Amino acid sequence: MQPYILIVEDEPDIVELLKYNLEAADYEVGIARDGDEAEISVAERQPDAVLLDWMLPGVSGIELCRRIRRRPETRMLPIIMLTARGDETDRLRGLDSGADDYVTKPFSPAEVIARLRAVLRRALPSTAVETLEYEDITLDLAGHRVERAGRNIHLGPTEFRLLRHLMEHPGRVYSREQLLDAVWGRDIYVEARTVDVHIRRLRKALNEGDAADLIRTVRSAGYALDKAG
Ligand code: CA
Repeated sequence: MQPYILIVEDEPDIVELLKYNLEAADYEVGIARDGDEAEISVAERQPDAVLLDWMLPGVSGIELCRRIRRRPETRMLPIIMLTARGDETDRLRGLDSGADDYVTKPFSPAEVIARLRAVLRRALPSTAVETLEYEDITLDLAGHRVERAGRNIHLGPTEFRLLRHLMEHPGRVYSREQLLDAVWGRDIYVEARTVDVHIRRLRKALNEGDAADLIRTVRSAGYALDKAG
């Protein structure tokens, strides 16, 4: 399948240059000319990566980057900023806002494609997997369904994301803060004990009918998905 790349850029010449070269490199390309258009486009069809211009009319590239990062479903979406500025603090601000990489204008299309390949490669493990399995739990990422020993488990969106995160690294202990970052996002302020509330709900849903508890509470450290025992 061809990776689908969304170009968010208001300068027609740059859009044309990128579109032509990306298509020649066998990528599928979508175009948004400002932040609002980009947000709608991402919500309609999630791209595999975004090339995001820094200087956009209306919502800035940095603000758009933050918004994309804030939404759990696009939290991991690879973003490369296109910036005309060479200033180091601006670059750092770009990366700080959650961009994975940046390319300074004027750039060569080959450079952009090389960066794109690198971020797509890094993103692959989480996007290539369709279902996660641990013990008797199966989590279907595309269908947003969870089963335990063949029984359907109904989870709220936060519990689903929590379980997904724990299932991606079974056995690993996560602190409440790490879970907040991973599941709620870095920009949202939530109290650490909120994690406990959602873990409790997740446990209750998973353990219905006397099933073994697979979530281990590590005193003063956090939580892990672990074999009961
Ligand atoms: Ca621009």
